[in-house]
Amino acid sequence: MNRRLFFVAAAAFAAMLGVGPGVQAAEPMKVSASFSILGDMVKQVGGGRVEVFTFVGPNGDAHVYEPTPADAKELSESKILFINGLGLEGWMTRLEKSSGFKGTVVTATKGITPRKMVENEKTVTDPHAWQDLGNGKIYVTNIRDALIAADPAGKVTYEANAQKFLDAIAQMETTVKQAVAKLPPERRKIITTHDAFGYFGAAYGIEFIAPEGVSTESEASAKDVAKIITQIKKEKIPAVFLENVTDSRLLEQISRETGAKIGGTLFSDALSPPDGPAGTYLDMFRNNIETMSAALSS
Ligand SMILES: [Zn+2]
Repeated sequence: MNRRLFFVAAAAFAAMLGVGPGVQAAEPMKVSASFSILGDMVKQVGGGRVEVFTFVGPNGDAHVYEPTPADAKELSESKILFINGLGLEGWMTRLEKSSGFKGTVVTATKGITPRKMVENEKTVTDPHAWQDLGNGKIYVTNIRDALIAADPAGKVTYEANAQKFLDAIAQMETTVKQAVAKLPPERRKIITTHDAFGYFGAAYGIEFIAPEGVSTESEASAKDVAKIITQIKKEKIPAVFLENVTDSRLLEQISRETGAKIGGTLFSDALSPPDGPAGTYLDMFRNNIETMSAALSS
């Protein structure tokens, strides 16, 4: 394209967007989020005023991640860095340092009650707080308040977007509770690869058992796997579920050795790509509860 033609095309494009001389185009505020679930929440609250960069993308494992130079560049240009906290993002401190980030770090779990558990005789904090929709509401209010503090001109927009999102989360809570209530109590038991659903289990009354701990960093020992196999047989646990962020081989093995069927794939620590079944926080819940219901109801 020659320069003149390019200019004409660019002007036409700008006119299309309603941007031109005398019309101020609002630049969206750049922010970063550590992983896809949190990134979606920030997008829902920020709307068009915010441009969100997410480090660990769809189907990615937020426990273990190798930041790239592109991540450092995005973070250096961000006004806010949203993290989950509770020990999820062990790789973040290094990224923050290498990027020279000078903005505000916002911990989305601020104010929630962390779930503690004992693993190999040590007390560990469970980072998967987003799997309880009640906690999801706290994430949303923390995100809203941080966006208002950084961009006061957007207060009305952020408040309206947050309220709409909070209402939708409340509706999803009802859906999940109703779905669990329909399941026979003795079938409310689920095996997953790593311990990502402790908050979900505590909030909605399903027992989750996992050969791996609250992080994917350490692999399950032969002893852990043997223990679970015994438990599945003894308690007649009906189904095991794969996760979108973990290797499926371990659970396929457990399924073969116990006869427990594979109930499908649950989205634990990451969303699906946008065109998949769990492209947003709420679609993740919808997909997970439908998958659980289908496998456990009969
Ligand atoms: Zn996890």
